[in-house]
Amino acid sequence: VNPIFAAAGTSIFETISRLAIETGAINLGQGFPEGMEPPELVEAAIAALRDGPHQYPPMLGLPALRQAVAQNAARFLGVDCDWTQEVLVTSGATEALADSFLALIEPGDEVIILEPAYDAYSPLIRRAGGVPVPVQMLPPQWQVPTEALAAAVTGRTRMIVINNPMNPIGRVFDDAELAFLADLAISHDLTVVADEVYEHLVFDDRPFLSLLAVPGLRERVVHIGSAGKTFSVTGWKVGYIIAAPALMAPIARAHQFVTFTTPPALQAAVAMGLALPDAYFNGLRRDLQARRDLLVQGLQGAGFAVDPADATYFVITDVSDLQAHDGCGPADFDFCLRLTREAGVAAVPISSFYGNRDVTSHIRFCFAKRTETLQDAIGRLADWR
Ligand code: PMP
Ligand code: GLN
Repeated sequence: VNPIFAAAGTSIFETISRLAIETGAINLGQGFPEGMEPPELVEAAIAALRDGPHQYPPMLGLPALRQAVAQNAARFLGVDCDWTQEVLVTSGATEALADSFLALIEPGDEVIILEPAYDAYSPLIRRAGGVPVPVQMLPPQWQVPTEALAAAVTGRTRMIVINNPMNPIGRVFDDAELAFLADLAISHDLTVVADEVYEHLVFDDRPFLSLLAVPGLRERVVHIGSAGKTFSVTGWKVGYIIAAPALMAPIARAHQFVTFTTPPALQAAVAMGLALPDAYFNGLRRDLQARRDLLVQGLQGAGFAVDPADATYFVITDVSDLQAHDGCGPADFDFCLRLTREAGVAAVPISSFYGNRDVTSHIRFCFAKRTETLQDAIGRLADWR
């Protein structure tokens, strides 16, 4: 048995979701939306499933979807790309991450990851032969740590993974942070894996600048998107990559041996979704923003201190005052177990996003839920406090 995945244990999202099912808790832990999928997208998938085709689509993805991804990049990111050479459809952003690491990392290459980091990065990088080098972002500001980043670069650093907007902290990086990251990548000749799956989930009219559009980065960025997030269908696992041909060619080679392709009916529906008018994307933002406001106000009313949240599905709260130190896991993990069992509301501990589990002050709630679900959760949390 290879030790890398064995040591990883069960993902925190699965652990918390299972506990929520066992205890009947409202699951604000794992990040998935409730009842938000656009009906026309579902209808398009049903029609495509009924009418076919049912066989392997082209390895790079359905032409209609690759064209739609390119048009989406032009419309929303201000980035032109050649859909025939620079777009690849994957089975979720997770496959896109795996393909990128498998294709672009050579044994011993160091890969900088910014923590709190999505749980898949580190084990996938290691299994691809790389050495993850975590650099921590810390409360209360959760800013890009410029000095620590500059100090983390060595002669072996080949890549940096940047998740913007960032899960779990719900932040969009500002221009100065992006300029710093761009300088770092250019001056040390790094490839940038830009996990931008929350690109459409940005609130309060905040601008979102894709790393693909940052001057000087176009040729070195691997942009990763996910229809799961953009269309509230996380179970569909349709993702995509945009990258310059020199990066895309080896990534496509990896993809052909990992999944080869993705169900054609879902690809066809997502192609239709990406062509929806701006009103859909603006409506999604407004809708999620209203859910965020509802949960933030409810949490504050129940006495929780909530950090600002600009984007994603998530808000985080500092619960260090409420933690007991008598459990067996990190304090925030034990607190989430207690909250799930006692209050009947499941949340995710932030320490799970740090390799050494040492940031334990905060927990994460997902607000992409029906109003009634959020109100019920808020009521339970207020009663519990
Ligand atoms: N990256 C981040 C930051 C995520 O939050 C997620 C999803 N949960 C993924 C990647 C994986 O996305 P997908 O479900 O499309 O594989
Ligand atoms: N990305 C989702 C989250 O952060 C979960 C994905 C998963 O369950 N693997 O909650």
